Amino acid sequence: VPEGHTLHRLARANRLLLTGKVVRASSPQGRFVEGAALLNGRQFISAEAYGKHLFHRYEGLSDRLHIHLGLYGKFLAHAQPAPVPIGAVRLRLETDTDYLELRGATQCELITPPERRELLARLGPDPLRPGADPERAWQRIRRSKTSIGQLLMNQDVLAGVGNVYRAEVLFRAQLAPHRPGQEVTEAEFTAMWSDIVTLMRAGMRTGVIVTTLRGDRDRRSGPARPEDRHYVYRRTGLPCRRCGTPIRTEVLATRNLFWCPTCQPR
Ligand SMILES: [Zn+2]
Repeated sequence: VPEGHTLHRLARANRLLLTGKVVRASSPQGRFVEGAALLNGRQFISAEAYGKHLFHRYEGLSDRLHIHLGLYGKFLAHAQPAPVPIGAVRLRLETDTDYLELRGATQCELITPPERRELLARLGPDPLRPGADPERAWQRIRRSKTSIGQLLMNQDVLAGVGNVYRAEVLFRAQLAPHRPGQEVTEAEFTAMWSDIVTLMRAGMRTGVIVTTLRGDRDRRSGPARPEDRHYVYRRTGLPCRRCGTPIRTEVLATRNLFWCPTCQPR
């Protein structure tokens, strides 16, 4: 599942490719024909991400294009000439030089300003947005009996955090994922929020999630190899980088949770 940094990168790539250009829009698959007709021939103004949601704005249209990639969605850009569409292309956007194809997304729709406000009001603060207010997340967490591991994945608590950041941030904070939100201290939350911002900004810059400090990697020189990027995520049974205890896993809120039982005691 793409995490928030992927959506912010996508928004930026869309801006670089499309800003100021008139697009041709179509829905080769047929599921977004009316929406595509409304976008067709309009000038692209901007794109932005909020959590795992992507929005496009077009000239002369108060509705926004709203895309949620879900588990398997892809929104990929290619250079012209565009071939005859193959498979389930929900939306194709074309300029004279490039074309973008959206496949497999869970949502692709035009939403009105009130619908957009309602959607954003349901989302927690997005650590990648300037001015994001961590207090809103804290007020949810401090009152909740739900585990912090589950709360971090709730998009109405924090928008954009997914399974990799969840596991890694909790390890770095030395917090057991099972600890109820109401037993997390404000100091722990404040430190965790600033760590999330740091890690997600790095992910947005580079496109990869690297959470390990150099001294904790198997190979300490050069860039982090893929197998050296994480402390606990997908490291079930491997020794903890800090203490050697085998990393554990269990299913929490339908997703695999990874943690070190020694570094993150209950
Ligand atoms: Zn450990």
